[in-house]
Amino acid sequence: MSTFSNAVKGVANPANPGRLISQFAPLALALLVAGILPSFVDNYWIQIASLACIYWVLIAGLNLIVGYAGQLAIGFVGLLAIGAYTAAILCEKLGVPSLVALVLAGCSGAFFGFVIGLPSLRLKNFYFAMTTLGFATIVTQVALGWESLTGGGIGLPGPVFPAPFNSSIGFYYLVLAMALIATYLLRNIAISNFGRGLIAVRDAEVAAEAMGVPVVRLKLVTFTFSGGLAGLAGALYAARQTYITPDAFTFDLSVMFFIAVLIGGRGRIVGPMVGTAILTLLPEIAAPLVAWSTFAYGLLLLLVVLIVPGGMADYLDRIFKKRPIANRITAPKVGVISAVISRAGDKAATPLIVKNVALAFGGVRALDGVDLEVQPGTIHGLIGPNGSGKTTLLNVISGYYAANQGTICFGEHDIAGLPVQSRSRLGIARTFQTPRVLGNLSVLENAMLGAYSQFSSSFPLTALGLPDSRREDKAIRERAYQALTAVGLAHCAECRADQLQHTEQRFLEIARCLVMQPKILLLDEPAAGLAHNEIENLGTLIEEMCALGVAVLLIEHHTDLVFRISDHVTVLNLGKVLASGTPSEVRTNKEVINAYLGT
Ligand code: ADP
Ligand code: MG
Repeated sequence: MSTFSNAVKGVANPANPGRLISQFAPLALALLVAGILPSFVDNYWIQIASLACIYWVLIAGLNLIVGYAGQLAIGFVGLLAIGAYTAAILCEKLGVPSLVALVLAGCSGAFFGFVIGLPSLRLKNFYFAMTTLGFATIVTQVALGWESLTGGGIGLPGPVFPAPFNSSIGFYYLVLAMALIATYLLRNIAISNFGRGLIAVRDAEVAAEAMGVPVVRLKLVTFTFSGGLAGLAGALYAARQTYITPDAFTFDLSVMFFIAVLIGGRGRIVGPMVGTAILTLLPEIAAPLVAWSTFAYGLLLLLVVLIVPGGMADYLDRIFKKRPIANRITAPKVGVISAVISRAGDKAATPLIVKNVALAFGGVRALDGVDLEVQPGTIHGLIGPNGSGKTTLLNVISGYYAANQGTICFGEHDIAGLPVQSRSRLGIARTFQTPRVLGNLSVLENAMLGAYSQFSSSFPLTALGLPDSRREDKAIRERAYQALTAVGLAHCAECRADQLQHTEQRFLEIARCLVMQPKILLLDEPAAGLAHNEIENLGTLIEEMCALGVAVLLIEHHTDLVFRISDHVTVLNLGKVLASGTPSEVRTNKEVINAYLGT
């Protein structure tokens, strides 16, 4: 165990001093420069620096939405406006103290963040982008039209903060502190299971669901959190402007926020921070650019998308991140799995029983009355020609497709109506015929995603970085490292997953499932593309899991492997069960030989 902890520390624990320095040096430097800035520059530049901090408070939250979750929210200026008007109205019309108004602006931002998030559950990419843009337009139009409340085109005075925040330097330190808090919260979420879950939603939503990530809830919580930060930024923005009118909240500003995240790098922290600084400074340094800003932002966006699609940080990452060694072999280690999954206790409790399941796609009867039973601690082989319905059956069991008829029971649960995530929580793990890994996360982080539903720390507590959530993360990190050792990928733990070969990604998917500590594992052609010795290794690995009480449903074309390790084999043909029995019964079945095995 101690060798594991040491290995994990050396490979991937953030407590590693070298890693700590490289992670925090840029932030510490930025903080030092920001802290001593007022002693070196005049009031004008302090104002600019305040603006950059305010923008960052918003962009830190937007980063989670755009950078991590991959949602094209381009109308965040609407939330900035809501925060600004909430604070201004509360102070001006109701005489609320400005610091209280600041907090309430955050609350109203959070509420409207949640509202903006709702369409993201149904609409993808461009369509969602348009709804956020529509939202921003509505907000400015309401601000313009509702004169009695907002002052219409004439506007409202922004909140005035009490001493010492009423001076330019005092205000600067206030917004700097807010920017630091926003960065701290963002970082805690980014390195937690929530950060990994969001990236999974962005890059492989299907796999995210299979790992038990509650996609809807996670999206909404993140939108609420980001909205809260945007609302706070709005109140600070109103205070800095001293007077707000609807035309302060332009489309250009919204696009700027969006681009700051993109040029910095999706799913990073320091990158978008630098992006924010550059985009705040740019119009000040090159004043003529202001007239061209719409054009300039458009051009910048285009260049980023074409030249460095992942942003600056991703570009640097590709250059500097550890690469897997050449000529490596995936050598699973026997005897390690038991450290990842303890022996399943109540064996009899969770057989998988599929009865009379049918599913048609239009005229194609992909499944036509299939029966199947997988007992705990056994390997059930599922073979059949291409197009016979094997993957479809797996999708029905794991919840991606709803069957037209039939029942699926897992233990005493009838799971036919449950969503994918709930089935995963019951202990149903699966791999995909085409591996779905998160390319720009490390191999270890990919494996850690398997334990998503086992984290008990809530989003707010994780954001605050409480020791409990860190402890949980550390335990899962160690378990994931053990799972990688078991499948033979520990030597790549810190490499980006997109640097693995296709076959290694298959083993990574298995490791991710192991981290889940599943009761049943559904494998869709895991041996495809593997060399002979790798198939042997895979067989040993599957047998080892099975010996620990895990049920395995193995879809495979390598019938040698299936017949060698399975306890029971089912053959599908044209969506129907052609034969079912022990390997020797099936192997000698005439119909099976004619339809599939050949002579
Ligand atoms: P297998 O995995 O055994 O090769 P599949 O389960 O992928 O076969 O496919 C079974 C049949 O269902 C095929 O005829 C395939 O074209 C069809 N099919 C599978 N998925 C879909 C889908 N999403 N839409 C329409 N037809 C599908
Ligand atoms: Mg298939």
